[in-house]
Amino acid sequence: MTTTAKPLEGKIAVVTGASSGIGAAIAKGLSEAGAKVGVGGRRLDRLKGLAAQLMTAKGAAKVHACKVDVTSREDMETFCKECEENLGGPIDIFVNNAGVMFYGRLEAMREEQWHRELNVNCKGLLHAAACVLPGMLAKGSGHIVVTSSDAGRKVFPGLANYSATKFFVEAFCQGMRLENADKGLKVTTIQPGDCKTELSQLTTDEEARKEFAQPSQAREFWLDPEDVAGAVLYAVTAPNHVGVNEVLIEPRGAPA
Ligand code: NDP
Repeated sequence: MTTTAKPLEGKIAVVTGASSGIGAAIAKGLSEAGAKVGVGGRRLDRLKGLAAQLMTAKGAAKVHACKVDVTSREDMETFCKECEENLGGPIDIFVNNAGVMFYGRLEAMREEQWHRELNVNCKGLLHAAACVLPGMLAKGSGHIVVTSSDAGRKVFPGLANYSATKFFVEAFCQGMRLENADKGLKVTTIQPGDCKTELSQLTTDEEARKEFAQPSQAREFWLDPEDVAGAVLYAVTAPNHVGVNEVLIEPRGAPA
């Protein structure tokens, strides 16, 4: 086995939802591994700050920040094109990480929040696949990594709609793998448990937060975003014949 200090040197990777949390950590990990990285999200100021910070590292490859709302097909198209133009080639690794989550009982009928979860978590992935899949298949290689969730394996109360979106993600990714593994495509879903990010702050339903967002263990024992980024790095640096299809990563204190 050969190992290099920068295993992703020469590769072009893009990450959505890179303006905070897990996405920012993934972008950092990819950049440190030598990839040229495109970072996307709606908060361009944060993305530019991240790009500038990553490029101060010695020997860092280019990092390009670009605004994208993943719920818009046109935005996604522009994002991918802009990253390819600025980073100098076709996308090798697409990390579909942007996501939203709202706690709430179904009978509270927070339909706007259900639709936001569907639009970001599901349609965002569809838009990404529509934009990058044809190019990856044409060149006979490519890796799509999707931040799914442990909620993509089991449903959590108070998160029925969110869990359903992550089940969609798992099914869609399994389909992409089944249809295209023999054409050089790798597809990985990363399934984290509780991780220290801003995600739960979106919840506006305080009753639901009290009822459902009480973790079984203190936040200090949760995953760090860097732990999840490590799982992504493992998947995208695996040898060519290895497909890391799914990675379930939980705090040690959440064994089931
Ligand atoms: P954050 O809230 O920190 O990150 C979510 C990211 O998604 C932000 O960067 C946000 O960027 C981006 N985003 C939201 N809406 C859009 C949009 N319409 N277009 C583009 N980007 C958007 O939370 P996490 O880092 O935790 O979340 C990242 C992923 O991890 C999500 O898919 C989430 O479901 C998943 N996950 C998180 C877990 C956790 O415990 N934290 C556990 C399991 C999975 P911006 O606002 O700038 O657009």
